[in-house]
Amino acid sequence: MKRIILVVLLVIIIAFGIATYDSILNKNEMAASPDAKEENSSWTITEYGSAGEEQMMSFSIEGNVDGLVIVDGGYENVEGDVNNILEVIKKHNNVVDTWVVTHLDADHAGVFLNIMKNHPEVTIKNVYTENIPELEKCKASTPWEVDWSTYEDFVRFGTENENIKSLSEGDIIEDVIGLNLEVLWSYYEWVDTYSSNILNNGALIFKLSGNEESILFFADVQDEKVGNELIRKHQDKLKADYVQIGHHGNNSMPDEIYDMINPKVAFIPAPNWIFENPNKVAWYTAEKIRNLLTEKGVTVYSDKDCPISVTMK
Ligand SMILES: [Zn+2]
Repeated sequence: MKRIILVVLLVIIIAFGIATYDSILNKNEMAASPDAKEENSSWTITEYGSAGEEQMMSFSIEGNVDGLVIVDGGYENVEGDVNNILEVIKKHNNVVDTWVVTHLDADHAGVFLNIMKNHPEVTIKNVYTENIPELEKCKASTPWEVDWSTYEDFVRFGTENENIKSLSEGDIIEDVIGLNLEVLWSYYEWVDTYSSNILNNGALIFKLSGNEESILFFADVQDEKVGNELIRKHQDKLKADYVQIGHHGNNSMPDEIYDMINPKVAFIPAPNWIFENPNKVAWYTAEKIRNLLTEKGVTVYSDKDCPISVTMK
């Protein structure tokens, strides 16, 4: 009899334990519920300028209710670049919902690698990047590049982490803290055949759309042929309220692409030695693009304005 009472007591204790544990789990799930992020009705887009001398690219996007997206981030070993991103991550309880690494160059993918290596307290739920060209092809297309450690480190993390995914043209991610992410361009064989610098020209071109407005990222795409191909394939999708100008403002995109985008704000991730071009380097086109855009009434921001925030609806 005593034995039966003991067994019954044990069952009651275990059942109570499971019920309590379940309710704790449910509370956590509610706290991290994606529904809260779906409720975002506006998003703060912040561009961070270079903390060093070099050109780089770094953006954060925060939902008005909840959620954090990072786009690129800057150099792995430039403390200021890393700190800009770490600070915004801390504001979001060390959780990044989505990190988009547009391509595997050091001025874009570096900060992501620093956080992966040195900040185990940070949780990164989803990481999206380009279709990654083979290293030998990258080396052949940019023989002047000598340091491939960013590429190699990222590929190593990519094979070890199942939450890192390559995206292709046409891919749509429906709920990125309430935004719709659509990929208009990512590396594929065409880039090998028709374009130079395959890592830059195979970078992700993608659009994030809110309820009323959108932002278009061109990453480091620089080749006119890619611009013409984009117009041919996706002309109806180019309109955006905000745009990040490709390759730090130094690109040969056809002028008419800016009429099709017809933005109100353009971000040119460029330090002054590119943006103002005091040494009059002939192939720096940031100044030309800036003039083209300001004549159309577009507000243009460069590194000297950063950090700069806008609100997207
Ligand atoms: Zn770059």
